[in-house]
Amino acid sequence: MGVLLIVVVIAAGVWWVNVRLYPIRRCPSCGGSKRNSANANRWGACRRCGGKGEIRRFGARDSRE
Ligand SMILES: [Zn+2]
Repeated sequence: MGVLLIVVVIAAGVWWVNVRLYPIRRCPSCGGSKRNSANANRWGACRRCGGKGEIRRFGARDSRE
């Protein structure tokens, strides 16, 4: 129980630091191309990132916009 708690705390700490260092990452859906390349017949702006090519990670602050 205690070990599990420590592991969770460490994992949360690593995740938090990682998010603070890299709050925005490349959109995993379009790979940063900003377009929906999954289907060539429906070529258009990526829905997941809204055509920005990058998405804000969960937990990142909204200070850049
Ligand atoms: Zn995208």
